[in-house]
Formats: sequence, structure tokens, C-alpha cells
Amino acid sequence: MDQEAEYTCGHCGETIVVPVDLSGGERQDYVEDCPVCCSPNLLHLRVEDDQVDLWAEPE
Ligand SMILES: [Zn+2]
Repeated sequence: MDQEAEYTCGHCGETIVVPVDLSGGERQDYVEDCPVCCSPNLLHLRVEDDQVDLWAEPE
């Protein structure tokens, strides 16, 4: 199942849309580089009742 979620980069403030892999579990924490400013964000993904929550903390 392909799904997308968005987060706000903690460095440049851009809204970033990313595909999320729900097969990875309902709670995922991973680091991803912002495609706009190339700074790492620590992403937190939570899935509950098919609702995807994604937010970022600056690394
Ligand atoms: Zn950024």
C-alpha cells in the first residue's frame, strides 16, 4: 500500500511530501535529509486507524 505523508522541515520550514512505507510498522523513527536544504530531520511516523501522522525534529 502506497501512502504519502508530509512534514515540515525543522531547518528551512518547507513542507516535504514523502512516500511512507506502512509495512515498516505503526511506529517508525528515522532520519531523512531534507530535499530542499539537505539538512537531516529526525522523522517520527505513527499510524493509527489508517491515519498517518508524520512530524520532524531537526537532527
Ligand atoms: Zn529543509
